[in-house]
Amino acid sequence: MSIESRNPATGELLEQFSPASNEMIEEALDLAVEGHEALRRMPLRDRAAGLRRLADLLDQKNEELARVATLEMGKTLKAAKAEVTKCASVCSYYAEHGAGFLRDEPVQIDEGSAYVAHLPLGPILAVMPWNFPYWQVFRFAAPALMAGNSGLLKHASNVPQCALAISDVIAEAGFPKGAFQTLLIGSDKVEGILRDARIRGATLTGSGPAGSAVGALAGETIKPSVLELGGSDAFIVMPSADLDAATDAALTGRTQNNGQSCIAAKRFIIHEAAYDAFREKFAAKLASLKVGDPMSEDTDIGPLANASGLDDVVKAVEDSVAKGARRTLGAKPTEIAGMPEGHWFEPGMLEDIPEEAPAFKEEIFGPVALLSRVPNLDEAIDLANCTEFGLGSVIFTKDRSEVDHAVRRLEAGATAVNRIVASDPRLPFGGVKTSGYGRELARDGMMAFVNRKTVTIS
Ligand code: NDP
Repeated sequence: MSIESRNPATGELLEQFSPASNEMIEEALDLAVEGHEALRRMPLRDRAAGLRRLADLLDQKNEELARVATLEMGKTLKAAKAEVTKCASVCSYYAEHGAGFLRDEPVQIDEGSAYVAHLPLGPILAVMPWNFPYWQVFRFAAPALMAGNSGLLKHASNVPQCALAISDVIAEAGFPKGAFQTLLIGSDKVEGILRDARIRGATLTGSGPAGSAVGALAGETIKPSVLELGGSDAFIVMPSADLDAATDAALTGRTQNNGQSCIAAKRFIIHEAAYDAFREKFAAKLASLKVGDPMSEDTDIGPLANASGLDDVVKAVEDSVAKGARRTLGAKPTEIAGMPEGHWFEPGMLEDIPEEAPAFKEEIFGPVALLSRVPNLDEAIDLANCTEFGLGSVIFTKDRSEVDHAVRRLEAGATAVNRIVASDPRLPFGGVKTSGYGRELARDGMMAFVNRKTVTIS
């Protein structure tokens, strides 16, 4: 089967690619070893210079790259430009700090001397999703290249043009041949590649089933892995919260990237004293969003990335309504004049959602806000934690003791107070429970695929 690049706003087939043959995969694996060898021998300052050139190129090509993402997966052009800018920032970050993270760490011992050295592991397989088609890849690639690991990218099958653009721009920045390659393959080829002894680790961002498959293989083959999986983040609002700020954040948190973000605020858990006022302001803001052509400056929400994504969101909403949830705003497929083939979905809201409703239990990957009313903070936290996921969490309050309590009790890889959860190159990023394990970004992201070698000298 060919790998297709298709515009989710129009249904137009943009490009078709033949998947890599077994021979091509074999060559790529050999080249990944050579790429790693070349990177390993490169002085750190040269790797950092490469990342600086990469950051400059990403800035220069911002609009061109952004257009490819918008065409392939439907995010608005302004969101795609911001994403490419963020990719440049993560390259600059590791160019500046990478050598410091990789410096030998002296350790005092009883006799002789000791230190910890940081050495690359070798070629790493990166299995990546379509929702942030550049950012998810660069947040792995920048620390990997700086540490001396080569990367082999298996990107989501609906974003092949983004995938090729990434390896092209990394090569253009002057990284050695094989340092970072894109393999256009289906997910059925991942197992063989991960089992290959030339691959020394794997990172995957995506859904739970994909994460389980890759995590199980990594365990079986004893290779380090990082999994960044789904989330159903809670967004708690307490009575002291600034409701204008909270509803602005709720709007961005739930609808950015057309509602398709792992760290999107999905479940809004509101103290009963603030519920009605929050609901009214939030509903007005949600209703004012413009759904339409993602290339237009004034569009807030583009199409969902593919037909199956739209079907999943519609099904989660309908099944939840059937279980007793009330649909009080939008939350249904819609149409855009002149673009009949697009995967359009009107942002909206469900209330009075029973806990067994799919919308509450699953990751709902579209702009649907789920509102629940609670009498106190402990019940808010219990509800926040009653999910298999544990990626991000938010609390809006002016009460410091509520913040401390929530930070200690919320089961999540991040808690954001009076703001939305957002990844930042300077901060570790990752989840607990079925949202995955390991951390990306910051020093942790670089250490994920580094041999922290203990050296003792007498
Ligand atoms: P997937 O998790 O299926 O895809 C992510 C990546 O994993 C793709 O490169 C995919 O390849 C690959 N993959 C899928 N299955 C396997 C497997 N068994 N072994 C190895 N690699 C695999 O995401 P979808 O695009 O199908 O989206 C489905 C749902 O996943 C979404 O609705 C959302 O809930 C969640 N999701 C979460 C993301 C997040 O950021 N946490 C990102 C994307 C999706 P291929 O494209 O060829 O199938």
